[in-house]
Amino acid sequence: ALLAAASLSSGAGAQATARTDAAIERRVESLLSQMTLDEKAAQLTTVFALPPMKAIVDKRAATGAGSFLFVTDPKETNRLQRLAMENSRLKIPILFGFDVIHGLSTIFPVPIGMAASWDPGMVERAQSIAAAESRAVGIHWAFAPMVDIARDARWGRIVEGAGEDPYLGSAIAAAQVRGFQGDRLGAAGHIIAGPKHYAGYGAALGGRDYDEVDLSESQLWNVYLPPFKAAIDAGAGNIMSAYMAVNGVPATGNHWLLTDVLRGKLGFRGWVVSDAEAVNSLKTHGLAANGQGAAARGLNAGADMEMALFQPAFANLPKAVAAGEVSPARLDEAVRRVLEAKVRIGLFENPYVDEAKAAKTLRAPAHLDAARVAAERSAVLLRNEGALLPLDRRKLKSLAVIGPLADSPRDSVGPWVFNQNQPPQQSILEGIRKKVGSKIDIRFAPGVALPPRVNPSPFETVVGKVERPAPPDDMTGIAEAAKLAAGADAVVLVLGEGQDMIGESASRSSFDLPGRQQELLDAVIATGKPVVLLLMNGRPLDLKASEPQAILEMWYPGSRGGDAAANLLFGDAVPGGKLPFTWPRNVGQVPLIYSYLTSHEPLKANKRYWNESNAPAYPFGHGLSYTSFAYAGLKIDKSKIAPGESVTVSVDVKNTGGRAGDEVAQLYIHQRVGSAARPVRELKGFRRVSLKPGETRTLSFRIGPDELRYWNSATRDWVLEESSFDVAVGGDSTVPFTGTFTVEK
Ligand code: BGC
Repeated sequence: ALLAAASLSSGAGAQATARTDAAIERRVESLLSQMTLDEKAAQLTTVFALPPMKAIVDKRAATGAGSFLFVTDPKETNRLQRLAMENSRLKIPILFGFDVIHGLSTIFPVPIGMAASWDPGMVERAQSIAAAESRAVGIHWAFAPMVDIARDARWGRIVEGAGEDPYLGSAIAAAQVRGFQGDRLGAAGHIIAGPKHYAGYGAALGGRDYDEVDLSESQLWNVYLPPFKAAIDAGAGNIMSAYMAVNGVPATGNHWLLTDVLRGKLGFRGWVVSDAEAVNSLKTHGLAANGQGAAARGLNAGADMEMALFQPAFANLPKAVAAGEVSPARLDEAVRRVLEAKVRIGLFENPYVDEAKAAKTLRAPAHLDAARVAAERSAVLLRNEGALLPLDRRKLKSLAVIGPLADSPRDSVGPWVFNQNQPPQQSILEGIRKKVGSKIDIRFAPGVALPPRVNPSPFETVVGKVERPAPPDDMTGIAEAAKLAAGADAVVLVLGEGQDMIGESASRSSFDLPGRQQELLDAVIATGKPVVLLLMNGRPLDLKASEPQAILEMWYPGSRGGDAAANLLFGDAVPGGKLPFTWPRNVGQVPLIYSYLTSHEPLKANKRYWNESNAPAYPFGHGLSYTSFAYAGLKIDKSKIAPGESVTVSVDVKNTGGRAGDEVAQLYIHQRVGSAARPVRELKGFRRVSLKPGETRTLSFRIGPDELRYWNSATRDWVLEESSFDVAVGGDSTVPFTGTFTVEK
């Protein structure tokens, strides 16, 4: 009966039901008028529906639950939904949420990798596939995208975002929201996006996850809020509030942030969910003495829904209302927002999923192929001395594939992949063997083992512990690997950080290769063989002075990372990604941000350490190709404009090499004079283009008020000032300024 109901209700007729604003409002108001205080409080929570909690979860479902998270099995979403639809008094369907960060079952590269593609169209497609797979199993809401700017890579969650830059971060944020949600909230086969963690989470002190955040107004408005604004403008239905305190006030109890700024200034209209346990943690932050106080503080600040592990503080809301700590109007406002989302996505008409269809949707061949393309487009070629890459498959007779990450399918999908919804994935070695194994003698040795974390991950129980094969001991392993390398025509060395060494609760005080990988790298280089270092990581790594001939950054490439790596290594795909962060030479340089890096002013040139230059290992925006590109003919259509007007900057990009490839043209500006010190360069435009050998394309960029304005802490507002502006367009953030225009009344 359930299946029949499922297929009926997911028919086109139900989807086409008109849900006008007035009809939605009527439905919401009618439900609201029938609800008890307890029923309202229940709508305002999302709790972890993990197997050990089954009895409690079932009871909550049957009495009217707002939302559950962490259910990925369509049978289970249907079962819980049926409990709500058949037993709860008002038959309000449950909203299922999940961390759909870089895919549900088809895994795409980690978000920092997708940002490195500088290809919002590809990112949008990836997240729309993630949405389709999620919707198919009964998930309606992604706790994503993470749009936190990260400028200190010790912070493990840099892997989940788009890096250091607010302009790139905004473009990637908006693309993800469009991918998840489609053209509107409730679009068929799509889910609600929940940008997080509002706001400033990426600026944790010392890069330590969850630590305090102290942000100037200028940094908050100019750097950390723009991606949220972009996500909201793209229509994000939800926002997640952060754990930590911003300038002394916990984000989840911060009325200024959650209400004045989010609703008043950024124009957000959906519902706010707290991060997991963030309402309860208002007690630890010292903002409330007990659960009731925490609930009142969170709700009054603007958190509409609480995400809790087991015991929501919001269960105390009826008491808080009775005690006059929360107004009935504020409670209703929050409930209205949650109900509105449920009505808007058609959950009442369409509460169930078709389990047979779900099985076909997950890991559909087209999805896996898109994951491969995404991994290819995300890869960044950091170095390629003597044009070692692409490898020539006609000349190679043997290839040594070495490293603890070379044959680790679990690591190659990265963090935020859960055992519960994952079939086996593909390793790099597997991809290489599949592609050239019949023609080239592929020999494998892990060399060394990845060490365990000193402080184990608190999430092992949820995400599953990673089991990795360990060679007998590292020194024997290194000697064996070096011998294997010495006997082969070339070496592909796969090194980096294990998937549990990056992500939430995975901050790190060092950028060194974990374990004895550095010794392995040096031993392999010492053989004199051509070495390609393939990196798997989500933060910059410090390779000391070691210089393998080629370095290909693959991030954690996802379900088809092996195929993508093999295509890139042998030239069937050409790397075109660019770094979304400045890659420092060592951890002591952190934070190193391209927008403040300059050498043209004496004082600024001396802003450096006595033992170290300010130069990064690789600049923001850096990435090579198997071909080469040249820029010429930068033109600005007007030399003078009035405030509010725009200029068009155009430039010719030519493929000057021998094969087709992609280039990411980046436009930077610099305001010469103003009432505040603006960064020395700021990204304000980019485009990824594919060019055939010898082909030239003229690219144009519009620079107008949105690109020229900035938040001025003195006037506490956006300002657009009269000044000359320098303009540069090129292939990375070191391109010199060659154009100028003036804004003048
Ligand atoms: C993370 C969130 C995540 C939530 C649910 C929290 O610990 O900070 O990003 O969405 O858990 O898994």
